[in-house]
Amino acid sequence: MPKPSPIRHLIVVLGDQLNPDSTAFAGFDPKQDRVWMAEVNEESTHIWSSKQRIALFISAMRHFAKELRDSKIPLSYIAFEDPSNSQSLDGELLKAIQAFQPQALIMTAPGDWRVLEKIKGVSKQTGVPLEIREDDYFFSTVREFAEHAKVRKQLRLEYWYRELRKKHSILMEDGQPIGGEWNYDQENRSSFGKEGPPPIPAPLRFKPDAITKEVIQLVNERFANHPGELSASLEGFGWPVTRAQALLVFTDFIKMRLPLYGQFQDAMWTKEPWLFHAHIASALNLKLLSAHEVVDAAQVAFHQGRAPLAAVEGFIRQILGWREYVRGIYWTQMPSYLERNALNANAPLPAFFWNGNTSMNCLQETINQSLKTGYAHHIQRLMVTGLYTLLLGVHPKEVHAWYLSMYVDAVEWVELPNVIGMSQFADGGLMASKPYIATGKYIDRMSNYCKGCRFKPDQSHGQDACPFTTLYWDFLMHHESSMSKNPRMVMQVRNLKRMSDETKAAIQAQAKQHRLSLQP
Ligand code: FAD
Ligand code: SF4
Repeated sequence: MPKPSPIRHLIVVLGDQLNPDSTAFAGFDPKQDRVWMAEVNEESTHIWSSKQRIALFISAMRHFAKELRDSKIPLSYIAFEDPSNSQSLDGELLKAIQAFQPQALIMTAPGDWRVLEKIKGVSKQTGVPLEIREDDYFFSTVREFAEHAKVRKQLRLEYWYRELRKKHSILMEDGQPIGGEWNYDQENRSSFGKEGPPPIPAPLRFKPDAITKEVIQLVNERFANHPGELSASLEGFGWPVTRAQALLVFTDFIKMRLPLYGQFQDAMWTKEPWLFHAHIASALNLKLLSAHEVVDAAQVAFHQGRAPLAAVEGFIRQILGWREYVRGIYWTQMPSYLERNALNANAPLPAFFWNGNTSMNCLQETINQSLKTGYAHHIQRLMVTGLYTLLLGVHPKEVHAWYLSMYVDAVEWVELPNVIGMSQFADGGLMASKPYIATGKYIDRMSNYCKGCRFKPDQSHGQDACPFTTLYWDFLMHHESSMSKNPRMVMQVRNLKRMSDETKAAIQAQAKQHRLSLQP
């Protein structure tokens, strides 16, 4: 084959940058420039990525590549099956640089520290300059977050969220929050009660097309021993893999689920994985949707009277607040954030996290659903799996690897702060003001999981003791001295102090027994 002639720019597009209008494409000239994309094993094996997650990324990349080719954009796309594929990102990029001899590499800021370092390394090694452009699919820049953080003794979501609400004039009226409050959290914590959820609209899922079917077969062959389930049916894989599909999912959410989103945001129910959530995190993270457009549409729904303020504010707070907040934390704290372990947690992740084989019903439900669909909603992640690993004292890096592997929306910039900061309190309170800990009674209140469980959520020791309740008290005893210094933990520590020594000893013995039961 003749050697290609040198080009001007090689545009690097990663698997979570599937936006043809991204800043990387600004000034793109098909006569002088070329897009580069690569599927490499390394991205699915540096953590033990679930089959659902691999299939989503690869299928979305292949659909995006097709769109680029259909638009006559010159593209070099390296597929898994390519026999010359070195299966590493830097290996493939080096080969592309040798082949096309670009004057510069251009990309939109990546979402992952490790990937950024790799690409910077290739640029340094080859001497080809790398231009990194701002990602305008977010409301804020990392620099803005760093400025915000610089003048504060303590970071808190609420202040960042208010700053962005004001700056972008979202749900604001005459400089004040619409409705007079910044936050409607109190209205957004209902459970379904004994009678269970109201009718839940069926989620919009997509039957795998020819591209997705091919990817599913590939993943099932190539990554057969990876966690989770995957098949070429509507139940086996239904995630949006194109922008058009992502827009349909989001429009369906605004119409069918947003009105009840806020009220039932924290509720859980057996065999009901989807509830009133949006299911758009993967589309947002792959850049099939922008944060601006989803926030705008939610605001319009409120102004047109199609959804109540509490629901709309609750949804907007997740996107404008939490999503931008965790991104700022990730990029201002990496790479040392990955090493945080403030509570000195060192237990291994129980084996049942990879197969759902446990008699704790809440964990069984959440893990099995995650393995099947690559999805669990926020409270399942925070107050079931995350709560259990926190109380058990699992090493935060093992917890991080599990979450990054499991979910279709898992990309490190958003997953890591949610795990290290919010869920495991491993950053010692940088992100959250107190650890999210509770007994099994919280799970009982917010779900019907305990009804089908052999344990009793109000019992801390004895045959029927709920492991969450046992471990909650054991955790408080273990961390009593540090927790008693946290003003937000005063009540919980006071309750512990009221407990008799006899009960404390019984709980500690029960906790020990539970830990022993987890050993292989
Ligand atoms: P909805 O509940 O409908 O919320 C709407 C959107 O708000 C989401 O799509 C998401 O983009 C955003 N959002 C909500 N909560 C958060 C949050 N805490 N941080 C950032 N964005 C948020 N989210 C990810 O996108 N990727 C992850 O890898 C991820 N890992 C998590 C790990 C743990 C331990 C916890 C507690 C949370 C994690 N989250 C993660 C946040 C949240 O759980 C998911 O975004 C949400 O469950 C995705 O489902 P949904 O689209 O139906 O969200
Ligand atoms: Fe989970 Fe405990 Fe309830 Fe069982 S009793 S479902 S282990 S919280």
